[in-house]
Amino acid sequence: MIQKDNPCPCCSGKTYAECCKRLHEGTLAKDALELMRSRYTAYALNLPDYIIATTHPGSPHYSENKFSWKRSLSKFSSASQFHKLKILDFKERKSLATVTFTAYVSEDSHDSTFTEKSTFEKIGSRWLYRNGLLQEGHTPNLVTNGQLRLLPLAYYGDAVLRRKADPIAEITEDLKKLIEEMIETMDASDGLGIAAPQIHHSIRLFVIRTPIESKDGEIEHGEVKVFINPKLSLPSEKTWKTAEGCLSIPGLREQVERPKEITVEYTTLDGAVLKERFFGWEARVIMHENDHINGVLFIDRVEAKQRLKLDPVLSALEKRLRDGRAL
Ligand SMILES: [Zn+2]
Ligand SMILES: [Zn+2]
Repeated sequence: MIQKDNPCPCCSGKTYAECCKRLHEGTLAKDALELMRSRYTAYALNLPDYIIATTHPGSPHYSENKFSWKRSLSKFSSASQFHKLKILDFKERKSLATVTFTAYVSEDSHDSTFTEKSTFEKIGSRWLYRNGLLQEGHTPNLVTNGQLRLLPLAYYGDAVLRRKADPIAEITEDLKKLIEEMIETMDASDGLGIAAPQIHHSIRLFVIRTPIESKDGEIEHGEVKVFINPKLSLPSEKTWKTAEGCLSIPGLREQVERPKEITVEYTTLDGAVLKERFFGWEARVIMHENDHINGVLFIDRVEAKQRLKLDPVLSALEKRLRDGRAL
């Protein structure tokens, strides 16, 4: 175990006792940067309970099975050596923040250093880790003077997700700014699409990243498309079934049956009205997002028998998201 006057693993230059120890003993992090440091230190010192307690219930890393979660965290900590933490960027805006850092880590003298952009979200007075995206290479292209443009997500249980959204009358500068922020929010959560109600705006708008299916069946994220006042028609009779998830219902993936093809008439960001036929995954993402602006969630489209089993899972999720407590 680390000695009282050892330097803190988070590289703050302070001793552990003066730095991350306080947080590990229950003091709340004053900002996401402090939380980031204390989580790195918790990994270095093999304190899985702290990692679990500071993970947002909406995080894709969140697990109901605390026992196996704890065991895999512990396994990672004991198999790795934590050499250094370097903070590259920190942005905060209200209840959201991102921290980009390089963690100098090795595993059995094997270098496994990585650079990650982590997203943090506050519930009440507690900062929590939500998600991390690995950055290409070790020197990411950072806009350090830019503003954080993430928007808070509406989670399952929020009434805005059940409302039928209003048409958009005009493409204003404010709307364009909102769309940019939606794209940033979608990307920070590694989502394929996001609809306006999911960021608390009840308007008929969604954005997607064109899904590209790779050879091994993985879905990669392609270019951004913006759909304003979309109207769906002519769904194909042929349907297909696959697992869907939703940023507003984190951790849940269920089989959903949808038409293979759909026609969409929509207004673009430039005000042009297009009518296009979409297929496969792209059609699926569009139909999922279009459901959002009608107050429909993918769980409403799950087979009845399976849907019944979801009730306890959904109420547990709703409670977790309200309390912000993993433990
Ligand atoms: Zn520290
Ligand atoms: Zn969704």
